[in-house]
Amino acid sequence: HVIVKPPPEPSPLRKAKFFQANMRILVTGGAGFIGSHLVDKLMENDKNEVIVVDNYFTGSKDNLKRWIGHPRFELIRHDVTEPLLVEVDQIYHLACPASPIFYKYNPVKTIKTNVIGTLNMLGLAKRVGARILLTSTSEVYGDPLVHPQDESYWGNVNPIGVRSCYDEGKRVAETLMFDYHRQHGIEIRIARIFNTYGPRMNIDDGRVVSNFIAQAIRDEPLTVQLPGTQTRSFCYVSDMVDGLIRLMEGDQTGPINIGNPGEFTMLELAETVKELINPEVKIITVENTPDDPRQRKPDITKAKELLGWEPTIKLREGIPLMEDDFRQRLGISRKN
Ligand code: NAD
Ligand code: UDP
Ligand code: UDP
Repeated sequence: HVIVKPPPEPSPLRKAKFFQANMRILVTGGAGFIGSHLVDKLMENDKNEVIVVDNYFTGSKDNLKRWIGHPRFELIRHDVTEPLLVEVDQIYHLACPASPIFYKYNPVKTIKTNVIGTLNMLGLAKRVGARILLTSTSEVYGDPLVHPQDESYWGNVNPIGVRSCYDEGKRVAETLMFDYHRQHGIEIRIARIFNTYGPRMNIDDGRVVSNFIAQAIRDEPLTVQLPGTQTRSFCYVSDMVDGLIRLMEGDQTGPINIGNPGEFTMLELAETVKELINPEVKIITVENTPDDPRQRKPDITKAKELLGWEPTIKLREGIPLMEDDFRQRLGISRKN
């Protein structure tokens, strides 16, 4: 029998804000890819004040330049592994490198970010009575033995591999969220995000969609890691942000999968990018890295039923939108 404590009294800030229907929202990792698109969407509502904290490990101020100086916006250089004192109503906790090359670069730091960073944000949520949403990941399912993955699946994760700092880090972060919820009555939301793509991804961040698009634009061979039959399901970033906001605003704790169930092998993805961006480009195969999940596809029944959410942008529609942004940043225009 699980006793869930009632939530703490709303903070005086939250009570006062209730009457004005204003929200002060903290976005950790808001200078990153998904975070900056989330900030754009939150800032569209003139009742929202947004505070971003970011240590700029993989994010950049450039992603937020349109908001710098805006009266409802604040940007703080801060590492979430250190305590943070701010007064907010909601916390979107995204801070964590998401690309394998970055999260493997300093794995101990990745674990600290996931564990100590999430603990600090939960301590903050507890102190001020804020609702907190964690962006967890489909990586909690590891190399899944169930396909497609639904939220009841416990996963198949190597605890000591090179990806474990991220996978196990997020699993502990989810555990912390539920323990703060059960023990302290904190209002939590957990999104399990599947591969997301779109404008503002780091051009050289090593993830597959950004790699293939940059390679196609630069006339470099598309590097399919072996065997090439491994699958992923790719969600366009505006759909993702819509799902995250619905989860935060709804009454479900989750975990809830947010992703696009359209599933592609890496060879199919390479063929699609070739066809849409550069029919002349070569496709080559290269060595893979250890523990690469062989298949991944979200079961989004819960998101559909409980959040009324489903993705609207197909891969073939999203790739050209991302191409425009990459061409602009690379300074390479279309050939004809
Ligand atoms: P990203 O790397 O672009 O953004 C992460 C942001 O967090 C960056 O701005 C980075 O500088 C910041 N950050 C990292 N460590 C920090 C720390 N210790 N303190 C403060 N800031 C820190 O990645 P993204 O793709 O935008 O991912 C955002 C979130 O979504 C992450 O939590 C990630 O795990 C999750 N997610 C993303 C995907 C995806 O496909 N993009 C899939 C699953 C989960
Ligand atoms: N914390 C924070 N900001 C706050 C409140 C707490 O960063 O506004 C941090 C705090 O430093 C601690 C963590 O959150 O390391 C967990 O806080 P909690 O109060 O749950 O635990 P305790 O401080 O009792 O260990
Ligand atoms: N991949 C690839 N070529 C690349 C980069 C990645 O074939 O240049 C493959 C990788 O082996 C994996 C898939 O693409 O099977 C997705 O990798 P990514 O790093 O984008 O995300 P992951 O889902 O593994 O976190």
